[in-house]
Amino acid sequence: MMYFKEYAENFGEQQPDCPEIHLPSCLTKIAVFKDYKLQCDVSQQPSISLSSFYEMWRKEFSHVKLRKHQKLSKCTECTLFKEALLTKLTKEQKEELLMKRKAHFALQLLARQKYYKHRAKARSSPQHYLSLIIDNMDQAKTTLPRFSLNSKTDSAYAGVHHHVTGALCHGFGLDFGFTWTDRFHPDSNVTLNCLLKVLHHVKEINDNALPPVLYLQADNCGKDNKNHFVLMFLAALVKAEVFKKIKLSFLMVGHTHEDVDQLFSRVSTKLCQENAPTLPELHARIREASTPSPIVSHLNSIFNFKEKLINLNRCDGIKAPHIFKFVKDGPIVKMSIKDWPLEYEQYRTVNLENIPTLQEICTSLNPVRKNPKIDSVTAAMVRDLPKWKQAGRLTRDQHTWWQEYLEVLNADDPALPSVPLPTSLPKFQIPAVERPSRALDPNILEAINRHIVQLQTSSEIQVVRPRRR
Ligand SMILES: [Zn+2]
Repeated sequence: MMYFKEYAENFGEQQPDCPEIHLPSCLTKIAVFKDYKLQCDVSQQPSISLSSFYEMWRKEFSHVKLRKHQKLSKCTECTLFKEALLTKLTKEQKEELLMKRKAHFALQLLARQKYYKHRAKARSSPQHYLSLIIDNMDQAKTTLPRFSLNSKTDSAYAGVHHHVTGALCHGFGLDFGFTWTDRFHPDSNVTLNCLLKVLHHVKEINDNALPPVLYLQADNCGKDNKNHFVLMFLAALVKAEVFKKIKLSFLMVGHTHEDVDQLFSRVSTKLCQENAPTLPELHARIREASTPSPIVSHLNSIFNFKEKLINLNRCDGIKAPHIFKFVKDGPIVKMSIKDWPLEYEQYRTVNLENIPTLQEICTSLNPVRKNPKIDSVTAAMVRDLPKWKQAGRLTRDQHTWWQEYLEVLNADDPALPSVPLPTSLPKFQIPAVERPSRALDPNILEAINRHIVQLQTSSEIQVVRPRRR
């Protein structure tokens, strides 16, 4: 059971929309057993039989599934392995394939373990390290109004899609949920605005200071995260000495489901149990999904950082690397890349010159303009709002809320974003000494000391005469 639990955690993908773990698509049940058997043979441990293995899987790990058709972005290599292993092969060919698959699994595990290491560092010394993971939730579940029991009419009426971006801040133990609509394009502007909100919040609760090192983990998506804009923005933060070092890491494509997806999975479950007819209620569902409650906000308007970074020199070849490190050397920001977190792989470094200052980025910074796509969305919702009301799906208050909300959503001029500007971030400070996270209660300390004293006294034994009656 211990072996299987670890196996599922290391190789499986936590599903964002249900509490299941899906094993890579190249595996079969028998292949999982064979991996287990091999492990036992190598470590000279006894193993359980195939039938017992299946029975244990069925009884104790029914949430660990093998899916023929994975809903999530499948790993191309895993698919190739599976297809190749299903063809007729010689023993040698098969062994070679299995070895290569093992190497593939090992590499994805290495990338994950690196992430766990960053997370652990942030948890044990939050004054030195800040670890963040940012990701977008699967879109299917968050069209409002949304009801746990879907009636036929519900799907016939228009709704407004709400994206949910999640961020977990390890070490400070904060979860964030940001909602936004198709008023703006889903791109790196969303990522950067969310990042700023998170950083600002950490600063606020941490005596106006940020740890010197930022570990940022993001989805390997070129549009949202792995692009010129995010890289240049991070370089600007290092140039401004908001951080001494930033490390941006990506997991292997197709093996990217992590703790932030567990949050999404719980939000999905909540949405299957309870209604979210309006945005405040969607926010409530997100808050209820996790303890401590995620900090939830809606992005009605965001800053257009892309516009300010678009004319900078671009770096070629950013698609393949999985690790980007930024440090400052005099006036220059150095960006170093690595394909994988392998010990023997050397960093390759380029100098980023002419990175703008944060003041330059913030001067005449505009909000993102309205995406024309939202017009048809709001028009459809305006048309169907009376139908929702007539079907008894919206209360009078909820109906009024929608009327007001649609007006704001449809407004031509974007409002001033409620996102803090990067110029409001302080310069990093190296903490003098590691501050103990929490002082030990004197009563507890006293009890422990008494216990230790007791441990140190050696008992004595002697033979005594019976007492006279
Ligand atoms: Zn794979």
